Amino acid sequence: MNTKPGLVTIDDDRDSRAFIRTIGTRLGFAVTEVSDPSTFAQTVRQLQPAVVVLDLNMPNSDGITLMRQLRELKSEAYVLAVSGCDTRTLQTVSELGRGYGLKILGTVQKPATVAAVEQLLRSTNLAPANIGPKDLQDALNEGHVKVHYQPKLHRRDGEWRIGSVEALARWHHPQLGPIPPLQFVKLAEESGLIGRLTDTVMNQSLQQVRLWGNAGIDMPVAVNLSPLLVADLALPDRIRGLLQKYRVESTHFAMEVTESAAITDSRDAMDVLTRLRVLGIGLAIDDFGTGSSSLLQLFRMPFNELKIDQCFVMRIPENDEARRIVKATVDLAHAIGISACAEGVESQAVLDYLRAMGCDMAQGYHISAPVVPEKIPALVAQWNPGQRPAGQRAAS
Ligand code: C2E
Ligand code: CA
Ligand code: CA
Repeated sequence: MNTKPGLVTIDDDRDSRAFIRTIGTRLGFAVTEVSDPSTFAQTVRQLQPAVVVLDLNMPNSDGITLMRQLRELKSEAYVLAVSGCDTRTLQTVSELGRGYGLKILGTVQKPATVAAVEQLLRSTNLAPANIGPKDLQDALNEGHVKVHYQPKLHRRDGEWRIGSVEALARWHHPQLGPIPPLQFVKLAEESGLIGRLTDTVMNQSLQQVRLWGNAGIDMPVAVNLSPLLVADLALPDRIRGLLQKYRVESTHFAMEVTESAAITDSRDAMDVLTRLRVLGIGLAIDDFGTGSSSLLQLFRMPFNELKIDQCFVMRIPENDEARRIVKATVDLAHAIGISACAEGVESQAVLDYLRAMGCDMAQGYHISAPVVPEKIPALVAQWNPGQRPAGQRAAS
């Protein structure tokens, strides 16, 4: 199984291709070289690479034609253009590429330096840092995995108020810096450490809910549950133990499971999810719209919240189809009696659309990126005016 991100480099010059191959391979990409422009489109269609490195000046083609092909293929790849042209021409090429809707990573003038290419490739955050299970184990032991929290707005009496947070794991490696969550979650899943990672996140989150509670901030938390753990029959008891340990009500804890996991027809998964619901824990179906679950499966599983994937939500302002999909999904959630949360809300305009659609919850950079727990009180003060910590309220 090849899980490395793909990189396609097209250049008529063999040395230039070898140069990109060397850097790309070292950074962890699966590199494919293309020398003949007539096979470029087919290669991209087949491999769906994460990155394309283009030579702008080739005998039988030019970079602009190749960029147009990428647009026609609706390629999601980051594009890095390499050329002997002057910097102004390179600039124009970048703008043209962006105009085509391509993700232009940057341009590099030939002769390209290792540092310039490496820096641009690293900036994609795709290049997996060279880490293994032992590093993650050490990080968990040494407390280098910390939980950040992203607030979620809930609509209450027509007003958007922060009503809960999502826990998102962060690993800051002492030498390598921040490791992308998708990378270490995958590593944890592959190396059998996902249970430990999840326990770490649940422990920190529930302790934090207790600390917020002590400070008069009523803040439920949702933790992401790997598909691999959905059928872990011991999970409900571990959670019950943690809720008791930190004296947190089950109504203040929720788990998010991706759609793909939710569709497992396994009886164990159904057992675990049902026991969690009976405990009173919230259950959300995550990234809804990206998997392939049928309505029947959604209906059968005991979810009480549906999270609409950010790819639909982000396109609300300019795309009528995206608007209709989000509205239909909100209506679907309501039709089966559960609430709808939109992810990836990046502007006030989207929040206004969501209100008009009757969406119950919203999450995204417009409200706040995931932050350290110390920053939550200020966000609550900003979004929930008039809400005072319990200590300042009259006893009720
Ligand atoms: P997710 O559960 O879908 O989490 C939402 C991701 O979207 C987060 O990325 C968040 O930072 C990002 N995000 C939130 N609002 C916006 C926005 O307005 N615009 C954009 N562009 N992005 C937004 P993050 O923290 O990088 O996490 C990525 C994924 O890694 C998560 O996706 C989740 O699947 C996984 N993950 C993170 N922490 C854990 C964990 O503790 N356990 C497990 N199993 N998975 C985790
Ligand atoms: Ca999530
Ligand atoms: Ca999500």
